[in-house]
Amino acid sequence: MKYEVLTIFPDMVDSAFRTGVTGRASGEGLIELDTVNIRDYSTNSYGSIDGYTYGGGAGMLMQCEPVYQAYLEALRRLGKGEPADSGTKPVRVVYLTPTGEVFRQKKAEELANEKELIFLCGHYEGIDERVIDEIVTDRISIGDYVLTGGEIAALAVMDAVARLIPGVLKNEDSAETESFNTGGLLEYPQYTRPDEWHGRKVPEVLLSGDHARVDNYRMHEMRRVTREHRPDLYEEYMKHRGIN
Ligand code: SAM
Repeated sequence: MKYEVLTIFPDMVDSAFRTGVTGRASGEGLIELDTVNIRDYSTNSYGSIDGYTYGGGAGMLMQCEPVYQAYLEALRRLGKGEPADSGTKPVRVVYLTPTGEVFRQKKAEELANEKELIFLCGHYEGIDERVIDEIVTDRISIGDYVLTGGEIAALAVMDAVARLIPGVLKNEDSAETESFNTGGLLEYPQYTRPDEWHGRKVPEVLLSGDHARVDNYRMHEMRRVTREHRPDLYEEYMKHRGIN
């Protein structure tokens, strides 16, 4: 998988991505991360890339041309030619925006099937709509709140996609038993040594060695956790199973 990130803060993306599991995966060549600094494509001598919004309103907007030139640079680095016409989008481009579809595990699975992805990180009040229409294939929000920029959102999406790429997680089983991979339920609570801490004991069943009991207990806990913490997901789960 190759990620190209269009950003005004390349160091922020680089340093976060090169830490931990994604860092190791890029060291092993499973994922390649590259950043293009949108500021390098400023159309004026001050190096600015923003302008006032037509029609008034507070704040500045990122201009089309610097974003478009950064995109063309990412395409070149991916070995793609310049799009022949406006309608051609040779690579999926994800624009991180609070106005996009809310990111879920299903979308991560879908994006993990791609060989390359371009991420577009906005700032200020966002980006001129014309360049978004021209290059973007997917608009993704990481939740119903507003961040100052798209980098943290891009990192969240890149991280969730990366861990679905074969070889990135050393223990492939762990992804299978996790929240959202368990038939619509969230993961059960887990414990490690010691078996008593601050007077809190590990549930007896987990020490019993009885696998059938452990499985039953975990299924019960998955339902309880989902019902208590995410009633919306629990309702979906029940509907899916034909229980109202
Ligand atoms: N004016 C925009 C609005 O009301 O929808 C918000 C712009 S926000 C201050 C600046 C940038 O942060 C956005 O262009 C986007 O790239 C990013 N951003 C903010 N919140 C986000 C979210 N929840 N998910 C994904 N990206 C987000």
